[in-house]
Amino acid sequence: MLNSGWLEAFLGLRCPGCDKPLDQARLCQACEAELVPRHVPNFVYLGSYQRFGKRGRAIKYQGHRDLAGLVGQKIALGVQQAQWGLDGVTCVPTLFHRQVRRGYNQAELIARAAAEELGVPYQTVLSRAVYTKSQTRKALSERLQLPEETFLAKGPVKGIWLLIDDVVTTGTTFERARGTLLKAGASKVYGGAIAVKSPYEISRFSL
Ligand SMILES: [Zn+2]
Repeated sequence: MLNSGWLEAFLGLRCPGCDKPLDQARLCQACEAELVPRHVPNFVYLGSYQRFGKRGRAIKYQGHRDLAGLVGQKIALGVQQAQWGLDGVTCVPTLFHRQVRRGYNQAELIARAAAEELGVPYQTVLSRAVYTKSQTRKALSERLQLPEETFLAKGPVKGIWLLIDDVVTTGTTFERARGTLLKAGASKVYGGAIAVKSPYEISRFSL
């Protein structure tokens, strides 16, 4: 695994956040300095969609797997700052064919890293119930028309959960996943992401 700074510099790797040459492992110092927890009610994210949405896509499409660990740690810091007493951490599931293509679900990598940092269990609770096209390729109007039964819970859950996605755009997918967790028995569901397109939307959903 390429996780030492000198090796990445030697190989000419670029920062997934700003595309400049990396001055340390995973993410350049300037980008990492901006990756700090930001809070809206019941939700923590790490930066604006304009700046950090790209970072999410970098994790998604360029295989920066070790960056997910860093993101998970920063989200965990946000959870500690907000003093949410969690019973478990889970993620919004990706589509099966996308996970097969990439070999992993980036939201799960972030969620697992956050759970480890917080010392609470990670559990895969949700699965996709229906096939939908890749969210990133769909028009806004299509995304808002996700069928109601998008997610299924694999079993009952109890207590307070943190639900993680990588980048939240309209919030519709996230809210469906959150609703499924609540129906499965969760008493409270907090959220976490690298970036959200509209923090106002997220705070409205969380009411
Ligand atoms: Zn950078």
